[in-house]
Amino acid sequence: MAALPAYNAGMNVDRAREISGRQDIARLASNENPDGCSPAVWAALTSPAFEPWRYADPACTLLKTALARKLAVGIDEIVIGNGSEEMIAAISRATLMPGAKVVTVAPSFGLHEIEPLAVGAQVVKVAMTAELGFDIPALEAAIVAGPRLVFLSSPWNPVGPALDRHALQRLIAATGPNTLFVLDEAYFEFGGSDMPDGLALMREAGVAHIILRTFSKAYGLAGLRVGYAVCSDAETARVVAAAKTPFNVNGAAQIAALAALDDEDWMLASVARLRAERQRVTEALRAIGLHTAPSHTNFVFLDAGRDSVELERRLLMQGILVKAWREPGFQNFVRATIGHRWENDRFLEALAP
Ligand SMILES: *Cc1c(COP(=O)(O)O)cnc(C)c1O
Repeated sequence: MAALPAYNAGMNVDRAREISGRQDIARLASNENPDGCSPAVWAALTSPAFEPWRYADPACTLLKTALARKLAVGIDEIVIGNGSEEMIAAISRATLMPGAKVVTVAPSFGLHEIEPLAVGAQVVKVAMTAELGFDIPALEAAIVAGPRLVFLSSPWNPVGPALDRHALQRLIAATGPNTLFVLDEAYFEFGGSDMPDGLALMREAGVAHIILRTFSKAYGLAGLRVGYAVCSDAETARVVAAAKTPFNVNGAAQIAALAALDDEDWMLASVARLRAERQRVTEALRAIGLHTAPSHTNFVFLDAGRDSVELERRLLMQGILVKAWREPGFQNFVRATIGHRWENDRFLEALAP
């Protein structure tokens, strides 16, 4: 079997400290929430209801029930994963045979390509436009061709924009009966009222679909690993669930996700702060002549106009961790998370001419 492309998980902070010789690293590489997580999560993790010595509920019943109520879907249509990354792997294993076709975009979220390749599928990547947007006519044509799976993130990691209602409707209309449309909404919360209701649009159109969401980004639980799949029907959910391990979501993760979901106010306040900061960073970048796509996420993607691995290295020596894009064709691009104000300021100062 040919070697798979490696997922670029970014540099560990201890390694960054060792290389740079600095302790105060600006952590802008992994799209984590700099605000941390809700205090309700801490309370839940130290409550007697959390019993680390017990196996947790393999069905994640309480969390699924809360999500089903929030999203107005059936409990049996939801699968909870050890992060949504596990769901990407499970979907690929459950639905793809060797040689099956998968459509995604370039630049891509690594796992949307790696997991299909790992099961022998063929991945077609539709490149972004020169304006750093989705190429809707090209995506439409690729989807009309009838791939087994479509993996699209919207808002788009690593580029930033979200599909608007009209664009999403066009892609849904292009989806045939043999295609499963996976819409990865890891950054949904950062889109705010600009986001179309992908779930409702897919359901109205009656296409086979899975919506992916996660607690890793806006809710600030990246280290605990909880994400989920909302499937178009119970049978799709059953097939995906069969491809995961039984006790995939640990007890701490289940209890923390429930508490986080119960404190939406904390998440909304954090998202509002980060959106304002994103606006400030975007404008400051523009002022120094660096163009970014309009971002609906907690990061910006920019053309550094030079080899990004070199820039990543230089920034690291100044105590800044960002992600240099290594995908062929996009090697001048850097993705930087919106962090604390001091982290963003250090990044902006380092880029200033
Ligand atoms: C971060 C991210 C994920 C993975 O999230 P986990 O739930 O932490 O596994 C999935 N998809 C996209 C597009 C992401 O950016």
